[in-house]
Amino acid sequence: MATEKKDIRALSKEELRNFFVQIGEQPFRGNQVYEWLWNKGVHTFDAMTNISMEIRTALEAAFTINHIAVDTLQKSEDGTIKNAVRLHDGLVVESVLIPVKNRTTACVSSQVGCSLDCTFCATARLKRMRNLNPDEIYDQVMAIHRESLLYHNRPLSNIVFMGMGEPLMNYKNVLESIEKITSDEGLGMSPKRITLSTSGVPKMIKKLADDEVKFKLAVSLHSAIQQTREQIMPFAKSFTLTDLRESLEYWYAKTKSRVTYEYVVWEGVNDAFHDMEALVKFCQYVPCKVNLIEYNPIDGGTFKQASEQVIHQYIEQLEVSRIPVTVRRSRGKDIDAACGQLANKH
Ligand code: SAH
Repeated sequence: MATEKKDIRALSKEELRNFFVQIGEQPFRGNQVYEWLWNKGVHTFDAMTNISMEIRTALEAAFTINHIAVDTLQKSEDGTIKNAVRLHDGLVVESVLIPVKNRTTACVSSQVGCSLDCTFCATARLKRMRNLNPDEIYDQVMAIHRESLLYHNRPLSNIVFMGMGEPLMNYKNVLESIEKITSDEGLGMSPKRITLSTSGVPKMIKKLADDEVKFKLAVSLHSAIQQTREQIMPFAKSFTLTDLRESLEYWYAKTKSRVTYEYVVWEGVNDAFHDMEALVKFCQYVPCKVNLIEYNPIDGGTFKQASEQVIHQYIEQLEVSRIPVTVRRSRGKDIDAACGQLANKH
């Protein structure tokens, strides 16, 4: 019986080198193949032109090369591009190219669906099907890098893990993908240009600090009042604000890296003065900034964005307490590519 072939992209460089030693070849062949797979991103062994036919045949017999395919590409009138990305097993995730002035940001997915249950997010309605592998995350980034060169004539400059899924629930694969993205054999991107956004999983935030990661951390806070937060993000019953606070203090003590709080203001949910006070208080715990995100309505949703006046009150309250605050306007709303709208609708 034929044994099932292994995905060669699941191998580390060291494992690839060992494979060549095992078949009686020079280990440096492993480095060459690794470069073809990651830096050049080829999809067939035949494309590896500096590798002999004999070795290519041996590779073909032992491995497959799993890769993604961009199924559909939708362009927004504001220049945002949404990719529907088909994985090797037929499942689909979405990733987004966001042009901002002279930069291009990639927003990538870390899971198919999501295991969390934020009531305002379209992705939460898809149950979590599986975690993405490091190569599947990496490929989304490379696809957007190529689109940026093609449509905007410049390389990708930033990456945010704000697509589908909770990155800290797929910790190992997300970190491995970032390692590949930042390595010279990958995109060679500085980790400072990468932001991981989490709903707030305290244990894993501490693990990030222990692992001394160099990328930036954003936390989807949305309310600094435990009871309110539980209503809109029910998983927060298990991951409380007290635990979150403690994990962020730990993060800051170890990394000295400022945290960004993502925050949407909804009418009747968190638009009162005591909501603002609670946020300002929460912001005292560790150095941070607040990113007020415009709400993107989702199908059948009951939430409504608070008025401009309330948003201004928030900005004022934060500014008098000297907490940096920015407002993030939605991009790509017309193609359902904005925050919280990724739901494989097509
Ligand atoms: N699970 C991670 C990353 C994905 S969500 C996290 O929660 O951080 C990326 C951001 O979009 C989060 O801040 C999330 O709270 C926000 N978001 C979700 N639904 C939204 C919506 N409908 N409108 C605006 N922002 C939304």
